[in-house]
Amino acid sequence: MRPSYFDIHTHINLEAFSGRESEIIEESLQHGVWMINVGVDFGSSQKAIDLAEKHEEGVYATVGLHPIYATESDFDTEAFLGQALSSKVVAIGECGLDYFHVTDPQGVRRQREVFVSQIELANRLKKPLMLHIRSGPAGNAYADCLSLLKKHARVPGNSHFFSGTLDEAKAFLSLGFSLSFTGVVTFTSDYDELVQLPSLDMIMVETDAPYVAPLSVRGKENRPVYVKEVAQRVADIRVESKDEVISSLFNNSCRMFSVCS
Ligand SMILES: [Zn+2]
Repeated sequence: MRPSYFDIHTHINLEAFSGRESEIIEESLQHGVWMINVGVDFGSSQKAIDLAEKHEEGVYATVGLHPIYATESDFDTEAFLGQALSSKVVAIGECGLDYFHVTDPQGVRRQREVFVSQIELANRLKKPLMLHIRSGPAGNAYADCLSLLKKHARVPGNSHFFSGTLDEAKAFLSLGFSLSFTGVVTFTSDYDELVQLPSLDMIMVETDAPYVAPLSVRGKENRPVYVKEVAQRVADIRVESKDEVISSLFNNSCRMFSVCS
């Protein structure tokens, strides 16, 4: 089926889908939904690559170390570099800062170091960054992330599950970073202004499955196929025609991750 939707941040590579990966990926492809399985550590990054390499098109991978794991393992640049050489790897991450789950000063310092290593790897490979940013008791992670990106990044990227302020969104957009939205936008209108803010070419959609299922399946298992509901809701919020928004969400994903001709 001709693809029409792109779930740019999902985790069929994680334990929750163990043994059912092919079934879930086939379901998505049959519904015209392409996906990027996002690595959170070395093992899940390799799993994302293995899943992607089984498909000629429509299934891609990122490799990286999630900030909540950055405190317990070193970032082994050479190991991740080896993985990133697969043609299916379209971005580095998810990487960034999580001040909600990690609050001790040493852990925060470690997250910053590991994030900078991943920015440098992305620069070296000229691949975009898949960012995970969450503010919390340890402070404003968006502000800190912006200053590290300004200082180190020479590649663009995407800020996944964006939940910062309008001003923070503007700052990311002006640095060339797109924003992606999850199923959360289907059950609250809190993000409507944020969804309307960027130019149409700077937004994408994702499920972040198995987390945050959209409204129609809330509380149940989330899967990439439900990105359609997220895209429809984003199209309802935006001022452009529905068709234009839906096709832009797909085309933006192809452009950002260099996957379509
Ligand atoms: Zn994720």
